[in-house]
Amino acid sequence: MLVIYLWNLCSGLLRTSLPVWVRLQVFVVMVSLLTASIVYIAYYLGLPWWWDRSPLVTIILLLVGNWLLVNVCFHYYMGVAVPVGYPPQGGLIPEAVSICKKCIKPKPPRTHHCSVCNKCILKMDHHCPWLNNCVGHYNHRHFFLYMVYTVIGIMFIMIFGVRLAYEEFFPEQEPELDGHPVRLNNLEIIPVTESLDHLSKEELAEIARQAAETEAREWQRRLIIFAGLICIATFTALGALAWWHAGLITRGETSIEARINSTESQKYRAQGKFYQNPYDFGPRENWKLFLGIKNRSWWHVLFPSNHGPYGDGLTWRTIHDSKIS
Ligand SMILES: [Zn+2]
Ligand SMILES: [Zn+2]
Repeated sequence: MLVIYLWNLCSGLLRTSLPVWVRLQVFVVMVSLLTASIVYIAYYLGLPWWWDRSPLVTIILLLVGNWLLVNVCFHYYMGVAVPVGYPPQGGLIPEAVSICKKCIKPKPPRTHHCSVCNKCILKMDHHCPWLNNCVGHYNHRHFFLYMVYTVIGIMFIMIFGVRLAYEEFFPEQEPELDGHPVRLNNLEIIPVTESLDHLSKEELAEIARQAAETEAREWQRRLIIFAGLICIATFTALGALAWWHAGLITRGETSIEARINSTESQKYRAQGKFYQNPYDFGPRENWKLFLGIKNRSWWHVLFPSNHGPYGDGLTWRTIHDSKIS
């Protein structure tokens, strides 16, 4: 429901007569605000809750949580800010596979035309409104790692927040809420409908304190419900998307190539032949190529690193040759 509401809200904003750059930034602002609100709730509710139970565990959670947060922010920023990669302006390219009917220019292998950007994109995967950018040669790794770190981060928040939420909604002793009798010093019960004129200053202050406590508790519960809904919706949507992309990366193909390869496979099968994706070097090699760690360590994946992809995106090594791309 929340996702549908947010989607309708964004679609509505996009249809308005706001300037183009404002409309295009709507999703980026929304992702940033949602991320900031979840981090705020984790600090506001989770930090004191864990600190009361174990300062040592809290410090470990702070370190792990911030490591995930830094990666989420870095890869999101890079996904938005890094130019995705375009064929050179002059149209002079070392290898052309076809002509783009929109740009009227030759297209390098794996390049596709994006109708939103109105440009040809090197190794195009798809146009992502959440990044307000195409996903292609130069930001594909950032797009994927953003999803992975966000999904792990949400899992982290859900695992270490579920006990807090449970205790908030199912406390061992249910606190008295508005409309219920107010308990003073555990001795006297006064129905709230009764006149309070006969009460002393201290008793009135105690009633005010309890009312403020109840209000704070209600606010906390609203925050937990909000965080829970956002986390579950994002975890489901991004988790499924990341899983699907992990499969594509394992097979050495982009979203667009997955469709092309599937059609080609069917054609070949009908002729009794076997089709092989020319960019599929095997799962291990495909992942190393995608993450850019063929001659680098895993630290480049575990921590923010702005290393670029292999090659210029204009020529591509295939399983049929040994050209260096
Ligand atoms: Zn084009
Ligand atoms: Zn695009």
